[in-house]
Amino acid sequence: MTTPDPQSDRRFLPYGRQSVDQADIDAVVAVLRGDWLTTGPAVDAFEAALRDVTGAEHAIACSNGTAALHLALLAAGIGPRDRVIVPANTFLAAANAARLVGAEVVFADIDPKSGQMLAEHAEAAHARADDNRVAGVMPVYFAGQCAAPADLADFACTHDLRVIEDGCHALGTTYDSAAGHHHVGGNDHADMTTFSFHPVKTITTAEGGAITTRDADLAEKLRRYRNHGMTRDPAQLTNEALAHAADGAVNPWYYEMAEPGLNYRVSDLQCALGTSQLKRLPDIVAQRRALVARYAEKIAPLAPLVQSLDMVKGCSPSWHLQVVRIDFAAAGTSRAEVMTALREQGVGSQVHYIPVPWQPYYRHRYGDTEFPGASAYYDTCLSLPLFESLTLAEVDRVVDTLEAVLSGHRH
Ligand SMILES: *Cc1c(COP(=O)(O)O)cnc(C)c1O
Repeated sequence: MTTPDPQSDRRFLPYGRQSVDQADIDAVVAVLRGDWLTTGPAVDAFEAALRDVTGAEHAIACSNGTAALHLALLAAGIGPRDRVIVPANTFLAAANAARLVGAEVVFADIDPKSGQMLAEHAEAAHARADDNRVAGVMPVYFAGQCAAPADLADFACTHDLRVIEDGCHALGTTYDSAAGHHHVGGNDHADMTTFSFHPVKTITTAEGGAITTRDADLAEKLRRYRNHGMTRDPAQLTNEALAHAADGAVNPWYYEMAEPGLNYRVSDLQCALGTSQLKRLPDIVAQRRALVARYAEKIAPLAPLVQSLDMVKGCSPSWHLQVVRIDFAAAGTSRAEVMTALREQGVGSQVHYIPVPWQPYYRHRYGDTEFPGASAYYDTCLSLPLFESLTLAEVDRVVDTLEAVLSGHRH
């Protein structure tokens, strides 16, 4: 393999990739030379930086975005008696996390033009569950847009549900409601928000994730479940005889576990990278917006064959994905043929997502349910390259290549 040359106009363009600069490298090397490789000051600094960018009261960094979802459900006390509403158009992780705490998943349909679950879809899923076991809803802010968090919060309030936002696509997204201006992760309309810092996401820690919340009690539980369920907090110790020396002081080695947890910690190496990357967040968001705007401009003349996602009103997205909706049948081709032809021309693409309820495990568990919105969306979607170091000229090259591939089939 040759090293990709960013100056070359023919480099292969994946659908997503990280950007790591010299400051990022220096930050990681500094940790390697220091005393802490894990659970040291770089974790605290990263959590503080996450609080700054989201406006959240508490941020808990953990090993990845899937762990973040699992921790959030554990902290919310969601378990085997419960059901959780999850949109059909998402990554496997949210539904799987619900199953891993023993809860049942109630899939909700989505709007086919934006890929988002709206409050009406969550309502319909709640009605379909037809019992009072639904305990939570996990909206996914698909591609970086967030549809109606305030409406979802109202829905959740009516039915007494916990709201756990999967913000893995939406670090840096802001939105307006009747009450004002909000940051995804600030939890103005949610109990907790989860993030992922996988290399294809907005910023990266290689592997990594986080949960933000306003609730001190949830924050304490998240920290405990992240580290084996252990606590050294004197106020929480229950075994007087073991915990204390004769003079009443807490024994210096002592810890207790009230409930089992996991090792979902994240290292100082990863958090140093994350803090360094977060410093660039405004630039990253601006660059991704500029690229998506260029895509929109280039794609507009290709309608109705190729269309951008519908823009969600009141949302200023930090774009994670550049999804286009293509009428493959009208173009006389198939998605598989288009993806292969694009790849041959140096353009990567991906499908986000195969509806999760169609996975064999969930079909076996819940049977076949119709999700007309998710199904219509899935038939048309294709994610094109979007990452920080992509250039406007490369956006033009991607859309020109797509246009050529599609018109090649129309004769
Ligand atoms: C990436 C992602 C996850 C999982 O994050 P990992 O860090 O890969 O575990 C969960 N949900 C959504 C929507 C994601 O995009």
